[in-house]
Parts: sequence; C-alpha cells; structure tokens
Amino acid sequence: MDVYLTPQQLDLRSDVRAFLDEHYPPERILQMENDEEYPDDFYRECAARGWTGIPVPHEQGGSDGSVVDLCVFVEEVGKTSISLATLYITGTIFGSHALHICGTRAQADAYLPAIVSGDKRFALSMSEPGAGSDFAGMEATAERVDGGWRINGVKGPISGAERAEVIITAARTGTFPGQSRQKGISLFLVDNPSPGLSFEQRKFPAMKALMVNNVTYDDVIVSDDAVLGEIDGGFLNLAKLMDPERLANAAQAIGVAQAAIDDGVRYAREREQYGKPIARFQAVSHPLAEAQAEVAAARLLIYAAAHKRDVEGPCPMEASMAKMLANNVAGRATNAALQVAGATGWEADSPFLRRTLEVRGCELGGGTSQIQRNIIARHMGLR
Ligand SMILES: Cc1cc2nc3c(=O)[nH]c(=O)nc-3n(C[C@H](O)[C@H](O)[C@H](O)COP(=O)(O)OP(=O)(O)OC[C@H]3O[C@@H](n4cnc5c(N)ncnc54)[C@H](O)[C@@H]3O)c2cc1C
Repeated sequence: MDVYLTPQQLDLRSDVRAFLDEHYPPERILQMENDEEYPDDFYRECAARGWTGIPVPHEQGGSDGSVVDLCVFVEEVGKTSISLATLYITGTIFGSHALHICGTRAQADAYLPAIVSGDKRFALSMSEPGAGSDFAGMEATAERVDGGWRINGVKGPISGAERAEVIITAARTGTFPGQSRQKGISLFLVDNPSPGLSFEQRKFPAMKALMVNNVTYDDVIVSDDAVLGEIDGGFLNLAKLMDPERLANAAQAIGVAQAAIDDGVRYAREREQYGKPIARFQAVSHPLAEAQAEVAAARLLIYAAAHKRDVEGPCPMEASMAKMLANNVAGRATNAALQVAGATGWEADSPFLRRTLEVRGCELGGGTSQIQRNIIARHMGLR
C-alpha cells in the first residue's frame, strides 16, 4: 500500500522506526507523559540525524525534502507519541514552510540553518481564547512604533510555545471597514524570550510532554525585520501554511491509529476468554479489520494529497479532506482498539486510552472536522 513512497522514503521510515524503538519504548513515553517531560533529547537527536533539515532547502543546509517525506516522518513518529510528532510539526515544519511561503531572503538565511541545527524551534500563534475556528476575529494587535511594532493580546492554545525559540505570531495591524476581516492581519517572528512575553500552560489530558500554552503579549516590541510577509496580508499566508500543517496533522493521526490497531491485534491474540483468544470472536476482530481498511484508505488520501502539494502546489481541498478523514478514521480506530482491551484499555496509564485522547486533541487542532467540511464544501461550490 506504499504506492507513493520511494526507496529513500521507505529507508527514512525504517531509520525513524529503529531510532524510536531503541530510545522511546512504551515505558519511556508513559514516563514522559506522566512527568510532563519536554522532549528536548528527541529534538536534539532529530537534528543530529538530519531530520530537522528535511523541509529546509539545500542552500540553507537542509535536505530539501518534500511534503511526502514529512508525512512519512510524522506518521512514523505518531505511532510512538503525539508529543514527539507535534513537536516536530511545530518546531520544524511550521517555521520552514512559513519562511518558504513569505519570508525574505535575509530571514531565510537567519532562521533556516538554525532549524537544521535544532537551535531554533518554532511555534505558530494564531488561535486566541475568543477566536479559534474564526481566527480572523482575533483581537491581538500590533501597533506601529518607531522602527518596529508593539504587540498586545492573548493567544492560545499554542502547541509547544513556551519552549520554542521563535513564535510566529498573528496580530491585527489594521481594520478595513467594508472589506473582509481577513485583511489587516499580519505575521511577526517573535523571539522567545522577549520582554513582555509570558506563558500559561493549558491543562489538556493528552500530549502532556509537549506543553500547550496560552501566550500573553504585553507590549512586546519587535523590529521591522521581524515582519513575516506583507503587513495586513498575513491571513493569506496562514491559509497557505495550512496545507502542510493539515497534511502533517493527518499523517500523525494515522500513525497513532495504526499503533492502536497493532496493539489491539496483539492484545486480542493474547487475551483469552471462554477458553480461547478473544481474536476468535468476530465481534472483536471485525472492528479492528474495518479500522485497518479505513486507515489504509486515509493513508492513501494523505499521500496523494501530499504528492499533489509537492508537484502542483497549494491543495487546500485535498489537505482538508485528508485531515478530516484521517482524524475521523483515527477516532474510530483508537476507540475500537480500546474496546478490544476492555478494562485494561481504560486504565489511566494505558496506551489504548492515551491514543484515544491523542487523536481526540489532534482532531481539534489545525481546524476541527466541521471546519474542514466547510472548506471542502466551499471548494465544491456549496457555500
Ligand atoms: C491540542 C491542541 C493544540 C493546538 N495547537 C495550536 C497551535 O499550535 N496554534 C494555534 O494557533 N492553535 C492551536 N490550537 C487551537 C485550534 O486550532 C482550535 O482549538 C481550533 O481551531 C478550534 O477552535 P476553538 O477551540 O476555539 O473552538 P470554536 O471555534 O469555539 O468551535 C467550537 C465548536 O464549534 C464548531 N464550529 C465553530 N464554527 C463553526 C462553523 N462555522 N461551522 C461548523 N462548526 C463550527 C467547531 O467545529 C467546534 O466543534 C490547538 C488546539 C488543540 C486542541
């Protein structure tokens, strides 16, 4: 079923798997999640192995990889832990793609080599407590000051913000009566730490190793060099960033789902009731079989969409279809696997429960399934 993958991509997948199996067995992931231990080592190791350079052009020291490469990487990491996969998505993919979409040459030269070396991790600060799906309704502002901009407001929830070195921040720089609210939003590269920048941890039940924050900007000053893309034109650039974001989100969801199915199969073969393995009961095996077929179908859509993004450019409809389908499928798959494991799956420290919660949060991040349906419907001429 790996029709879209090259021998190099298959090698990448097996290298990542070997690394994760050696360094991040299930006990280690459980400990990291329970202790809320930020995955510093993982990120350092990714940099040492050249993986943080995948989305970075050769010119800046990367390997100029494709969106398909990124999906391969993120899907495999998602099988082990969504904290690790999301750290890579925010730290590496958001930064490199945002700079590619709308960064200046000077910004690319300043930041991309630091992404490759692992010295600069990014976060994307777009949502606000009062503006999630409708993020054009954001209230954070950036006002012109001598030589730069002063940012005020509260953003969140933002994955990995507190430990990121650079926070791509969306703020309102203008209002244009009679025009779309999408106009007047601008993007800034905010260094962390910066005076006036502070963080509060959101208490989410999964992805606890990678904290998710609210970020407060209290008169945070950035220079003109920190403006990313055109002033007042940030919404369009964020929309472009959503293709790789949503495809990576979908790939990690499918990774989590596949791991849940694999664990479910193992459990069903080992656990005996009524004198035989529960796998022999059709009511146990069929939900896993159906989940496997759905995961395979979602995976094909993700890789087809990623391939289209690599070859043809922007693919908002396909990215939304992949995100919606993958997360819906992953929700059903993790739930089916948890059911197979019965009360064992329901234990607080169970990987079955963890994965069910992981994909629940994954569905909400990057725009919910309802919002993806809205986007798909719009592209179908229905809205
Ligand atoms: C784990 C996690 C990590 C996140 N990380 C980041 C991050 O790194 N950066 C960032 O900027 N944001 C991040 N977010 C925020 C995420 O993008 C928002 O949570 C998401 O866009 C939904 O916004 P909301 O939670 O405010 O829900 P709301 O927008 O208030 O929506 C509530 C419900 O109403 C539905 N709804 C709203 N409007 C419509 C509509 N027009 N049609 C149909 N249904 C609608 C939604 O689908 C949802 O079910 C993260 C969220 C989570 C859960």
